[in-house]
Amino acid sequence: MLLADRVQAAITDRVGGVSMAPYDSRNLGGTVGDAVAAVRQNREKTAVDLGIDPNRVVFMRQVHGAEVAYVTEPYRDDPPGLDAVFTDRPGLALGVLVADCAPVLVADPVAGIVGAAHSGRAGTAAGVVPALVTAMASWGADPGRMTAVVGPTACGRCYEVPAELRAEFTAVLPEAWSTTRQGTPAIDVRSGIVAQLTAAGVTDVRHDDRCTIETPELYSYRREKRTGRFGGYIWLDT
Ligand SMILES: [Zn+2]
Repeated sequence: MLLADRVQAAITDRVGGVSMAPYDSRNLGGTVGDAVAAVRQNREKTAVDLGIDPNRVVFMRQVHGAEVAYVTEPYRDDPPGLDAVFTDRPGLALGVLVADCAPVLVADPVAGIVGAAHSGRAGTAAGVVPALVTAMASWGADPGRMTAVVGPTACGRCYEVPAELRAEFTAVLPEAWSTTRQGTPAIDVRSGIVAQLTAAGVTDVRHDDRCTIETPELYSYRREKRTGRFGGYIWLDT
């Protein structure tokens, strides 16, 4: 989809790939136990489907932290562990791989800078999204001009956690306090990310608000344990 002038974004799903169960079928995750050749084919097919160069997609080694890097080309072997990247290079797509964690895509179309973050419970608590906004701003982007997309994630009615964990998480992000449909303690990662974006000065926040746990065409670690990863992609038109 066209997110802003010259900025494209996409959220993939599990349909239309070549992986076998339990990764069926468009698994993009390379470290979940799926066949390497199948993942490579799925990544290539997805790039072609999106109209981007399969050799110009940046994938991170995601570690649930808050490290951010400026990138001008894909990582090859042994990428550093990090959870957010940004670029000003047209045609270089940034990919985030998830199965319950939120993919967050950010763009300042005026500055011509786009970024992507992997923000689950731990990454959100660590502040990876505000770290990305700050890093993009240090490169000339302006939070007031940014558009952000918070992609599918485990929702606040499904994401059950122990009471102590909810207390710990919401001590940092009170907006994330939630309870499940059964009335047990839960956290609402999406609300936490929105609060972080708002505090960082990003007001144009959009959502793909599907809950991964409740949406069969998306991968969900919590629902299935052994499963694949879908992706959030963002790039500047060439
Ligand atoms: Zn849900």
